[in-house]
Order: sequence, then structure tokens, then C-alpha cells
Amino acid sequence: MRLILLGPPGAGKGTQAKKLKEKFNIPQVSTGDILRDAIKNETELGNKAKAFMDEGRLVPDDIVVGLIKQRIVEVDCKNGFILDGFPRNMAQAEQLSETLEKLNQNISSVVEIEVNAEMLIDRLTGRMTCSSCGAMFHEKNHPPKISGICDSCGSDDLYKRPDDNKETIMKRFEVYEQETAPLKGFYRKMGILKTIGGDGSLEDVFIRVCELVT
Ligand code: AMP
Repeated sequence: MRLILLGPPGAGKGTQAKKLKEKFNIPQVSTGDILRDAIKNETELGNKAKAFMDEGRLVPDDIVVGLIKQRIVEVDCKNGFILDGFPRNMAQAEQLSETLEKLNQNISSVVEIEVNAEMLIDRLTGRMTCSSCGAMFHEKNHPPKISGICDSCGSDDLYKRPDDNKETIMKRFEVYEQETAPLKGFYRKMGILKTIGGDGSLEDVFIRVCELVT
């Protein structure tokens, strides 16, 4: 199974990708996570990407496409993968199609998660992530059982993403509408676009996703 999760920032792509990864035993490939790791480790890639990410702009295509080309040929991707946050524009989508064609592979489904703007802002401004295991929480909607402590791994390092501030969020929405939303038409024409509502609990959404991909 080779899946693309599509949707605006805060739609729940990362959360659903983590659940899909567990259920289907295929890796989550998140360009955002790869880039954030690179920034944390102060690598050359991280240094190049940081300014773009801080401003809510897309990191240049050659960088992210290069990352994906390397990642999807790794052995754990042999039986499939879940792309979360890639592709983000038409050029990336076209390069992905070309790369997969050369590998004799194709995308099984593109699942678009739709959520209204008000809910997206609420989710993003309250979002917290565990820096050790990547588990995600929300200040109001899904707080950790013990304040500041990750339910999954016990780490006390829950952080708010620096790009989850109101100004950067608005920029990311604008980028999504201009650059990423056109991918819906691209994948609709290929007959693989499926759309679900992203409202409700993460379990509710997960049931909807699974109905579409199995
Ligand atoms: P995400 O974690 O998917 O919300 O991505 C966070 C930020 O990483 C984005 O706002 C971009 O700056 C950068 N990024 C992630 N994926 C891509 C991509 N496919 N193309 C360009 N930039 C990306």
C-alpha cells in the first residue's frame, strides 16, 4: 500500500499516519519530521531548511524531492509507505510520479482530510509534541494524563512547534491553498483521490481513513 495523506496544516495527517503505520506495518514518511530532525541536529540540510520553515514557506523542491527519492527506496519501504506532507506542489507531485514509474510502483490512494479553518487554528495553536517519541497532544482536547509528561514514553520534553504561531499558521494556510490544493485536481484525474471529513475524534477519523484504504 502506497498512500498519500493530503490536507491543510492541522488536518491530522501526522496523527493518522502514525496510526496507519501501526496497523499496516509500513513506514510513515514525513518530510516535515525529517526536516525538523535535521534542524535539531544542526545538519547542513537543517540549516538550509530552517528559515523557510520558520516563515511557513515551502522548502525548495530540489531538497525535499531529493529526500523522498532516497527515503522510498530504503528497505522498510519495500511493501509500501505513507507519505505525510509530501507532495506539497505540482512539481513535487510530478517528480514523485516519475520516480515511482521508474521503480515500477504506483500510489494506491490519496486521502484528503477536510477540516474547517476555525478547527484547524484551534488544533494547531494547542498542539504539543513529545520530542522523544513524537506522540502528539493538545492542551485542551487531548492533554497528557500528567501535565508536561508524555503518556507514551514518560519524557518531560513536550514542545510546541515554532511554526504553530498564529502568523506562521496563516502563511501556511495561504501556501496550502495556492500550492498544495491544486494537487486534488491532479489526483482526482488519476482516479485515486478520496476525501473524508477530519472532524470528530482521532479514532473516528481513523475509521473513515481505514474504510477508504482497505
Ligand atoms: P509539516 O510538518 O508537514 O507541517 O511541515 C512543516 C514545514 O516543513 C512546512 O511548513 C514547510 O516549510 C516544510 N515542508 C514539509 N514538507 C515539505 C514539502 N513537501 N515541500 C516543501 N516544504 C516542506
